[in-house]
Amino acid sequence: MAIVDTEDRYAGAFDTVECPVCGSDEWTHLVYQGVFCVTCNTRCTLREASGDQGFIAEFDSQYTWSVEEAEPIPETDEYGALASGKWLGTESRGYDRYWFSAYADHVDGHENEWEPAWDRETVTAEAD
Ligand SMILES: [Zn+2]
Repeated sequence: MAIVDTEDRYAGAFDTVECPVCGSDEWTHLVYQGVFCVTCNTRCTLREASGDQGFIAEFDSQYTWSVEEAEPIPETDEYGALASGKWLGTESRGYDRYWFSAYADHVDGHENEWEPAWDRETVTAEAD
């Protein structure tokens, strides 16, 4: 499915970004609704990385399905179930993840033990 139709400015972004909730790298674009993880339905929104080459991706677990691989982003009263990260680079050079965190990390007194899929130790073995 052609995501690039609407995400033109960040060509290649969805080839780079993995879902922090379940680790999938497949995304689907639903017209007028946004881009969602194929596996767990977490929504991903891209916006400009002010001044830098690259993009900021925001993930919303409000839409996350309950699937085995998924660990939904912790929800806070202030921000909802959001996490965001910044990727630097261009389509031709490739993108590198620069930072990533759940909004819950920034709430005073909020214990957050959630980690994005790529930082979890329980990585599922790759099929050979
Ligand atoms: Zn996912």
